[in-house]
Formats: sequence, structure tokens, C-alpha cells
Amino acid sequence: MISYQLKGHSLQNDVQTMVQVFYANEHYALVEDVATEGITVKSILENGTAEAVLFLDGTKQRAWSMEYLEPLTPKESRRLVKRTIYELLKAELRIRPQWGLLTGVRPAKIVSTLLADGASDAECFRYLTEDYLVMPNKAELTIKVAKAEQRILEGNSDGDLSLYIGIPFCPTRCIYCSFTAYPLKQYEKRVDEYLDAMCKELDFIGDYAKDFQMKNIYIGGGTPTSLNEVQLERLLKKIEELFDTSDMEYTVEAGRPDTITKEKLRLMKAYGVNRISINPQTMNEDTLKAIGRKHSVEDIKRVFHEARELGHENINMDLILGLPDETVEHVERTFAEIMKLQPDNVTVHTLAVKRASRLKEEFDQHQMTTAEILDKMLVVAEDYAKKLHMEPYYMYRQKNMVGNFENVGYCTVGKEGAYNIQIMEEKQTILAVGCGGSTKTYDAKTDKLERIFNVKGVEEYIARIDEMIDRKRIGLGGLK
Ligand code: SF4
Repeated sequence: MISYQLKGHSLQNDVQTMVQVFYANEHYALVEDVATEGITVKSILENGTAEAVLFLDGTKQRAWSMEYLEPLTPKESRRLVKRTIYELLKAELRIRPQWGLLTGVRPAKIVSTLLADGASDAECFRYLTEDYLVMPNKAELTIKVAKAEQRILEGNSDGDLSLYIGIPFCPTRCIYCSFTAYPLKQYEKRVDEYLDAMCKELDFIGDYAKDFQMKNIYIGGGTPTSLNEVQLERLLKKIEELFDTSDMEYTVEAGRPDTITKEKLRLMKAYGVNRISINPQTMNEDTLKAIGRKHSVEDIKRVFHEARELGHENINMDLILGLPDETVEHVERTFAEIMKLQPDNVTVHTLAVKRASRLKEEFDQHQMTTAEILDKMLVVAEDYAKKLHMEPYYMYRQKNMVGNFENVGYCTVGKEGAYNIQIMEEKQTILAVGCGGSTKTYDAKTDKLERIFNVKGVEEYIARIDEMIDRKRIGLGGLK
């Protein structure tokens, strides 16, 4: 347990996220008084001094402080609070987090905003490295990604929409999974009812979207190809009925190779899907078993070749660095195999140990990757992306990532996943159907997002589908 105490301010979230960067995967508690056992970080912001103090078992160990001039803006207050904790823990633990004071999910969005306000690359670089203490290589990556994102965002018009369709079933649950994903075996009998409900929700969206321009459709999950061939065709046919997909980005996150058949690949192609994901996560057999995937490296290769033969010209592959018991050599091997396949996109994730995952419970049983090793793995990924003639085009970060790094999407020229960018930059309304779906309506005048949530459970979603549609009817009313 890591305790933290606030004095002179109430920036609890900023304090906890900064502490979390240094003490990852712990329990954290806001305390009134310094804890008599374990570590307490005290954050003070008052009377012109910002200070962070570290206590062990109630005894002061060290402190770091700086002076400031009143009055402080909210942004500056947050920066100072984070800066003092950062300096304190950097000195104590001798760790230099590569992202400095940035703890948010969307670092590129910060740069996009600066660029849109007329800042130069050099000013963005200075802002990241000097004000937020981001390492130069990460600052360069962020600027590169922000510029790639801007090229896509320039094409946005008022009235553009994206649509997310969630299929929450998976053949087995991966050890690190924290998504809305339910084991197919348990829910097999309800999949058709789920699709009945979803088609009803899609009918509403189809009607609503007539006044707008649907730009991207993304079928994700779970694993959409958990649907059998009849069910998958039913869904694709419904989409064809409701939307003109001829000029849009249309993605199916096929995901796990053990769910992909030739017929499903053929159906996707026939119904106009023009971007698919085949996600190995790793090309090491032992790791696949250890993380709960029921497919082999050979299955990945076979499915990839079948997809190419059937004309799929934009294939993404998701990989995860820092999987339990993997070394830099494992990552080298994975990329050497990926290199032979030559996909169009590679999305490189670093493992995040989420609270809702099995990995969180089994954490102590595995050899987890250190930040130092993960850094080397990221260099391998970057080198291979270059060999594959790919550039980074989108990026996000998560809490509890091993080593506190980032996830980066790389692609060859012109193969950017526009939907991924819209999700990250939050400049477009994204409608979401299916259980766990979160619709985000974007108002360009105020630059604000509003959310409309669907329920998470499959049964609840089926039973309450009319209510989900009503929620959307009310929430979307203001957009027309
Ligand atoms: S395939 Fe994805 S959604 Fe399904 S269990 Fe694995 S991580 Fe979760």
C-alpha cells in the first residue's frame, strides 16, 4: 500500500497518477495523517512553496521543493504538484520516467492542440522536454504522431460520424484482458438474441445517421469473428442495408486466429470490409499458451496468408511487449516472423496490468519485464517498423503499463487507421452499439464531448435494448 497526503490543495488525481508512475501496481490510499507503516508521499502547495516529502514507517526520508509566484492557474498548480513528486521519487528510486510529468492517455493530443494554436515543432519540443520533462526521443515521437494525426483530422467536416459495433464474445479469456469480453461457450445460446438487440440498435443509428456522413465503421470486441459464419453474415448484411460503405474505412478486428475461417474472410471482403486485424500479440508458442490463447504461431501465419489470397489489402497486427516471461530475444523473434508476413499496420502495445485481469491476481507467479528491458524491446519494435517502411501514426498510454511506456500504431504510407485517430483525438462523434458501448458526441463549437453509455452485461443489454435506444435518442437529440 502506498499512502499519500495533500496539504494546501485537493489535486488527488494528479498526486496519485504521479506516484503510480514510480510505484506501479500497488494499492493507493489518500490519508489524513502520515501512515505509521509503509510509504507516504506528502504533497504540499501553499504560501509560495510547492513541496513533496517522502516518509517511511512515519519517518521523514527526503523532501524536494520549489518556490512559485501567486496566483497560479489550475494547470500550473497541477504541473508544480507533479513536478515536486517527480523530482522527489526520481532521486529516491533513481528512476527517470521517460514521459516525465505526462500521465494522461493522449500525449499527442497535447501537441495537436499546440500545433493548431500555431506553435512550431521546436516550441512543442521545448514544451514537452522542459515544462513536462519528457525525454527527447518520446517528445520527437509525440510530435511525429501529432502531425500524422493532423493530416487525417484535416479531412474532418461537421456532421461526420464514426460507428463502433461491439461483439463482446471471445473463445477464451486472455490473462491480461480487462475488456467487456465474455466466454463464447457460456453465452453461445444467447448470441442470436444479442444480434437481434444489436440490429434494433443499428436500425435506430441507420435512421439517425441519414442526416450525417458516416466515415468509419469499426467492428471490435471481444472478438467479432467469434460469431459463426451465419451470424457474421447477418451482421454484415445489416450494415450493408443501413449504410453506404463504399467510400468509408470499414474495419473488422478479426483478432484471434482461432476464430477466423476462410469463409469469414471471404464474407468480410464481399461485404466491403477494407481493413482487418489479425492479432498474434506474440509469435512465441510458449507465451501464447501462457497467456491463454488457443492458437498456434502456424495458425497466425495460415490465416494471414489466406486473408492476403482473398484480397485483404490492409491488415493490422497487434503485438504486446512485456508479456510474462518474455525477453528481448522473444520480441526479436516475434518481429522477425512479422517481417516475413509484411502486414500494413503493426500496433505495438506495452503490457498493462489491469485490475480486472487474471494477470493482476497471478502477478507474483510471473517474471515481469523491467522498465529497462521494456525500453530495449521498444527499440526493437521501432527498428523493425522502419524495416517494414512504417511510420508511427497514433499513440496512447494507459495506467499501470509496465515501465510506464506507450502503445504506438505504425503503418505504411496511406494505411493509417483513421478510426484509431478519431478515438484518440476526440474531434468527431463516435456512436457505439452493443453492450459496454460508450457513445461520444462531439460539439465542435464548444470542443466538448458528452457520453452516452450502454449497459455492460449481455443479458442486461438484451433485456434493456429499448432503454439503450431511448438513451441515444435523448442524448443525440441536441446534435441534429
Ligand atoms: S481477445 Fe481481446 S477481448 Fe478477447 S479475451 Fe483476449 S484480450 Fe480480451
